[in-house]
Amino acid sequence: MNAKMTAESRYQVLFDPLRLGPVTAPNRFYQVPHCSGMGHALPRTLAAMRGTKAEGGWGVVCTEYCSIHPSSDDQPYPFAALWDESDVANLAAMTEQVHAHGALAGVELWHGGSYVPNLASRLPSIGVRSMPSREEPVQSQRMDRSDIRAFRAWHLAAARRARAAGFDIVYVYPTHGYLMWEFLSRSRNDRTDEYGGSLENRARLLRELLEETRAAVGDRCAIAVRLSADGHGAEHLSATEAHDLIGMLDHLPDLWDLVVGDYYGEEMATSRFVHEGALEERVAQVKRLTRKPVVSVGRFTSPDTMVRQIRSGVLDLIGAARPSIADPFLPAKIRDGRLDEIRECIGCNVCYASNYRGAPLRCTQNPTMGEEWRRGWHPERVPSGKGGSVLIVGAGPAGLEAAHILGKRGYTVTLADAAEEPGGRVTLESRLPGLTEWARVRDYRLTQLRSIPQVSMYLGNRLSATEVREFGADHVLIATGARWRRDGLGRWHSRAIEALPAAGVLTPDDIMQGARPTGEVTIFDDDHYYMAPVIAVLLARAGARVTYVTTTGNASEWSHYTGEQESTQRQLLELGVEIRVSTALAGFDGEAVTLGCVFSGREWQQSAAAVVLVTSREPCEELYRELVGEEPGGSALKIQRIGDCRQPALIAHAVYSGHEAARELDEAHQVPSARRDRSVIHGP
Ligand code: ADP
Ligand code: SF4
Repeated sequence: MNAKMTAESRYQVLFDPLRLGPVTAPNRFYQVPHCSGMGHALPRTLAAMRGTKAEGGWGVVCTEYCSIHPSSDDQPYPFAALWDESDVANLAAMTEQVHAHGALAGVELWHGGSYVPNLASRLPSIGVRSMPSREEPVQSQRMDRSDIRAFRAWHLAAARRARAAGFDIVYVYPTHGYLMWEFLSRSRNDRTDEYGGSLENRARLLRELLEETRAAVGDRCAIAVRLSADGHGAEHLSATEAHDLIGMLDHLPDLWDLVVGDYYGEEMATSRFVHEGALEERVAQVKRLTRKPVVSVGRFTSPDTMVRQIRSGVLDLIGAARPSIADPFLPAKIRDGRLDEIRECIGCNVCYASNYRGAPLRCTQNPTMGEEWRRGWHPERVPSGKGGSVLIVGAGPAGLEAAHILGKRGYTVTLADAAEEPGGRVTLESRLPGLTEWARVRDYRLTQLRSIPQVSMYLGNRLSATEVREFGADHVLIATGARWRRDGLGRWHSRAIEALPAAGVLTPDDIMQGARPTGEVTIFDDDHYYMAPVIAVLLARAGARVTYVTTTGNASEWSHYTGEQESTQRQLLELGVEIRVSTALAGFDGEAVTLGCVFSGREWQQSAAAVVLVTSREPCEELYRELVGEEPGGSALKIQRIGDCRQPALIAHAVYSGHEAARELDEAHQVPSARRDRSVIHGP
């Protein structure tokens, strides 16, 4: 029996079809509804992205939250919509692409209730009672009975449109703080009519929607409910009530899609805080209460974990959002016994941050995510190139990505790095607290390289400009990375901080190389993401008395977009780190730091034996400049810089940059510029 057959039989259970009411899922891989940053505004981009997942073997592919009516408008966040016939046509493009690969298409019908501000539609938002929206200084209109009747009619009409668009699974969605969650909530719902009070009354609207949706489209579409397995805390919906609800309604849906009450802390948590399969126990509890199939998530990337979850009766379908973003071909790779080719999600939530910023998803591990239509990039296939030799200097994420893509395109690649081990910043950063899974960025690419003989890697090789020239490659990619600045320059200080002593001033690079300051240490975070907090955790655990200083109003302000901000600040507080927000580091004399209020300018001193400056990075472009001078065209060599050496940014950007350079080498002039997905006005 060969390895492929062994894998096939071991994982066969993942490929058994499953009946969901009137439809049949072809296998157990279920891409649960997840935000895309595309929504109704970018229908072609969206259809191609979802279609690629189906091509990669996901048996069910769902939309993101799909608004049923203009009174649920989440602008500026990108949401799908089924408001009218034009949305039907646009979403039909998605269902067609999903069906073309034999998968089922699901739609998560959604009404945001009080949560949404309706910035674009300008309609008043509606709620079980008048409540403030999530972010805007506006409140919702309390729904009276006629509003409830109108809402039910909108939902019904949207369900019919969903069927017309070709969807096979239609969601009823009482979770995540939206309108139907408000009705279920013990504290939000203060109604004294038949929609308030007892659990039965609070669930009345949900039951009505389920009955009406079922009657309208249940002959052709499976009905799914997304529900929290452990409720939403005693003040809203206790775990016991959530379980009772499942008992009360079990005859109505064809599928339960289970989440948990703590969205940021658990369900969407990053690998810094939560590991694979964290929802298992609570989902298993619910599974025992229902006779209907259950799908749930857990950032599953291990096929063995998936099989165990199904065999032990926790799940019927393996739900995934992030693992399907990082590897749209994950199911196909398991089916074909190509397990070592799986591009595992690292749990960084950069994808989530894109959506949160109103932009199409990008992914640290999968640079083609969001580019399926715009640039025609496929996650598994690259066009063959003209051939020739390429020298890549630097084996960080940019260099490693470029090397394996160029190898697959047929180039002869030499990859050199000064370090004794590959991976650049990924290798170093993955040793910081909570970032172990980030090493997957390196490991996936190293595994790919093992099967590409025309790529050779030389470690412990620091190349000079002369050596690069003498090497005589047809193309050179400089991927030499960036270093953290030692002078404090960044967002806050546009000039270097004056008179910093030589001793006691450290950067993240020093810490990653092993420096461990003790005693009183001040960390200055003008970067606002993960680096300063993880260093604070590292040093606090090693016994230093850490003061974390940041110019913004919260610790790690930008990680709000990755959903990590609260967990980060809590972790620092629990470790006894003193947090000083809205504060800048003004100076350091070796014994004390001078700190200043960013609003009033008031300054004070605090003793410190060392400071760690997490401000900004400087591209390591010395080699590039020596080779090309100030004018790239002036060099006889075909040379370009990629990754952090070109633009210091996230690991996601470095991987993307390496991918782009490798995919387009020799082709730049032929490749059409990226397409734009937008409405175009024809005629006057
Ligand atoms: P990126 O994120 O852009 O991939 P990294 O900082 O992760 O960049 O990696 C840059 C790599 O380049 C590091 O591993 C470093 O050792 C290597 N490097 C820098 N300068 C040279 C050089 N002159 N010769 C060989 N390797 C180099
Ligand atoms: Fe996973 Fe990060 Fe990619 Fe999101 S961006 S899918 S969390 S690797």
